[in-house]
Amino acid sequence: MTTLFTNVRIFDGTANAPRPGSVLVDGDTIAQVAYDPATIAPAAHTHVIDGDGRTLMPGMIDAHTHLTWGSSVEKIYHAFILPPDELEVAATRNARVLLDHGFTSLWSGGALGDGIETRLAARIAAGETPGPRLIPSTLERSPEGDGIDTGDVFNGRGPDAMRAFMAYCADQGVKTVKLVVSGESALKPNSHTEINYTPEEMDAAREAAQAHDLTITCHAYTDEAVDLALRAGARIIYHMSYISDAMVERLAGLKDSVFYGPGCGVSVAALEASPPPHIDMSGMKHSAAERMALECALVPRLKDAGLRVLIGGDYGFPFNPIGRNARDLAHFVDHFGYSPIEALAAATSLGGQLTGAKVGEIRAGWLADLLLVDGDPTTDVTVLQDKDRLSAIMLGGAFHKLTLPETTPAAAG
Ligand SMILES: [Zn+2]
Repeated sequence: MTTLFTNVRIFDGTANAPRPGSVLVDGDTIAQVAYDPATIAPAAHTHVIDGDGRTLMPGMIDAHTHLTWGSSVEKIYHAFILPPDELEVAATRNARVLLDHGFTSLWSGGALGDGIETRLAARIAAGETPGPRLIPSTLERSPEGDGIDTGDVFNGRGPDAMRAFMAYCADQGVKTVKLVVSGESALKPNSHTEINYTPEEMDAAREAAQAHDLTITCHAYTDEAVDLALRAGARIIYHMSYISDAMVERLAGLKDSVFYGPGCGVSVAALEASPPPHIDMSGMKHSAAERMALECALVPRLKDAGLRVLIGGDYGFPFNPIGRNARDLAHFVDHFGYSPIEALAAATSLGGQLTGAKVGEIRAGWLADLLLVDGDPTTDVTVLQDKDRLSAIMLGGAFHKLTLPETTPAAAG
């Protein structure tokens, strides 16, 4: 099947300004992109969609997703850890909610249950349930066993324990392994300086990841933690709020191999939240204020140094539900000095580079993951926060949503 979008403004996912044109999709792939005055002649059975001046852009990519953090714009859970059956239901729904809101690829930042994301990724890929392309993970490993009690493979110290864990993940179909290198002050005051892994464990993680074709995702706040993450060969590092000037310089030299996700969505939402009196968010708010103040200076420096900074902000809490993820683009504009086009590129082409798939750009030969937006996100990224402004959502050449009429030359003629 072929689909032709005509009369659209094309934002191609890169730093290029949007230009009017048309885009032809054949099967799951973008076959041709033509900028005015060039045109594309539809074949007799091509489905033609007149965009009437709307913006056609790549689907968005969230680089820090927790599908098993239950709360979404459709359902709020007041328990953080759900029973296993409910966890699976919530993750399945959250994948669909994110696709409804224009996200077509997700990079997992870890799960609250083993096996859930790998099963879900397989069901999505098979077309059995709607959802974005998913780079799945599993439980965030806790070496001392002070997290969720899940048995030996997720706990235990030493390089052998790490190797066993990585082999288990590969066997389960996990694609990225989340290692929590720093503590988390939002949950336990001043724990961001705590370190959970040894250099020997991180060396073992790096070797095992290479052997099993896995990527590593790290949660790291300080120089010591980021150094360990780099030692493990992390593909993306989250937060980094407390790093020094020397570490900024070191990261600048690694800009082509490591990605950065500040994860600001949860901080902004925590600061905005007005919880009921029986819920104490004071520790979380204090941590969020401290981190945002640091990141407002840090993120622009890392961006200027050429690092690829990606969106994704720990959505899934009741005060920061899944489905609001596009707020991250506005945070990049409001707090980090991004232009709207730079924020859009972070959410599309740069996220695509993280996944390694041909996603995140409108370019011939790339996968047809596309949004048709009623409005101009290249001047106002907040239009992406309203899913009703998404006139069409296409994933791999198939419409998840289409609100405009399709015509075919054959029917017309
Ligand atoms: Zn996270």
